[in-house]
Amino acid sequence: MSSEKTPHPVWQYFRYDRETDKSHCLVLNCLTKPFEKRHSGNVLQHLERYHKEQFNVVKAALLKRKQDQDDKKAPPPKKRKVEQIINVKMDSRLLMDACVSLVAISGMPLRLMRDPGMRMIINPILKGLKNSVAISPKTVADEIKRKAEDLRKVLRKEFENRLICIKLDGAKRLSRSVVGINVQFIENGKVQLRNLATVELKERQTGLALKKIVENTADEFGIRLRNLYSATTDNGANVLLAIRLLAAEQEQTVEVLTDDDVVAGGKTFIINILIDI
Ligand SMILES: [Zn+2]
Repeated sequence: MSSEKTPHPVWQYFRYDRETDKSHCLVLNCLTKPFEKRHSGNVLQHLERYHKEQFNVVKAALLKRKQDQDDKKAPPPKKRKVEQIINVKMDSRLLMDACVSLVAISGMPLRLMRDPGMRMIINPILKGLKNSVAISPKTVADEIKRKAEDLRKVLRKEFENRLICIKLDGAKRLSRSVVGINVQFIENGKVQLRNLATVELKERQTGLALKKIVENTADEFGIRLRNLYSATTDNGANVLLAIRLLAAEQEQTVEVLTDDDVVAGGKTFIINILIDI
């Protein structure tokens, strides 16, 4: 298993010229001189220093490659004599739902589905089900996508022709900052809250980039921005800017109230987007 078989992922950003024996950086607008020879280490260093985004892509690819290699190295489960034959209530639906729950709710990695121990449990069940379902990282991922799309359909129906309040709730964990895109609406006299998306805020995320994220999310759920009538956030200036931009585009008047009473302990901005109903 030599590492020469698959090229180092760093080479998606460099081109090696055999004639001049030099490697050229392909990142847009990079003005650096070509590098001598074809050294993955040297060009990787360049990425790390000057192109953080591309460097992170390469780092993730390397990590994945290592994981795949480790998975391959794991010994196959030993054939063991089974002492007991049992009858259990199980069908292909329940088995798939359990696997989806492990990943989507409990946060286990998809590769758990090919974990040797997991296969010791799953394979006999699959045999009992006469292989009417396939369990693999791919089939479980597909099922999660399908279920998410079903849920989106239900939510789209809920949002139809309703006035919507959007809430952008920020949270900080260690050095990472995420913002939840939530919406509120009134149904049968009760306030309903739905989470649409959770987005990690990169350090340099501008109001404009955030606006795009909110727009795309709204679009995904069939929320027409005309139906937005207020936005609430406890987050920073970039989130505020995103909402102002959104409202401006709808030619709605924006009124920003900074209200410390609304949420105890945190500063909350209430942005009323005044629309004609
Ligand atoms: Zn470069």
